[in-house]
Amino acid sequence: MTQTIFEKIVARELPADIIYEDADHLAFLNIMPFEKGHTLVIPKKAYKTIFEMPEDEYLELQKVVHRVAKHIKKVLECDMNVLQNNGEVSGQEVLHVHFHIVPRLQNKDVYTSGNDDLYESDEEKHKYGSMLKMDA
Ligand code: AMP
Repeated sequence: MTQTIFEKIVARELPADIIYEDADHLAFLNIMPFEKGHTLVIPKKAYKTIFEMPEDEYLELQKVVHRVAKHIKKVLECDMNVLQNNGEVSGQEVLHVHFHIVPRLQNKDVYTSGNDDLYESDEEKHKYGSMLKMDA
């Protein structure tokens, strides 16, 4: 089977602003964020949807999502959406399980679409990556 973009990020074949990593999980900034600091949390193992995941691995992933979300909320002092899609009909584009953690910094339309010029520059994006980094 062909590798997903996220497997390539796990293998460091594609760059990403990684803010969290442990043996089984990775969290990195979304390349097309709804809002600055929009982060994706993934299991390193390439499950397509949550339905292929054994319960214990799903629960471990949820713990990481909770930790990362709390960390981002603390740093950015924001409201937040935590979202997840399963299957193409649901809107899933990358077929590798991921949770969206979307900081809500302004009172904009809540479900916007991804934006490739939200950060003023790559430097600003990397600054968010550094600001949100956390220990495993
Ligand atoms: P979904 O629609 O839930 O499958 O969301 C997939 C997300 O992955 C989208 O919000 C994309 O902007 C994001 N994405 C795609 N490629 C990359 C990448 N190379 N680095 C970071 N995020 C990405």
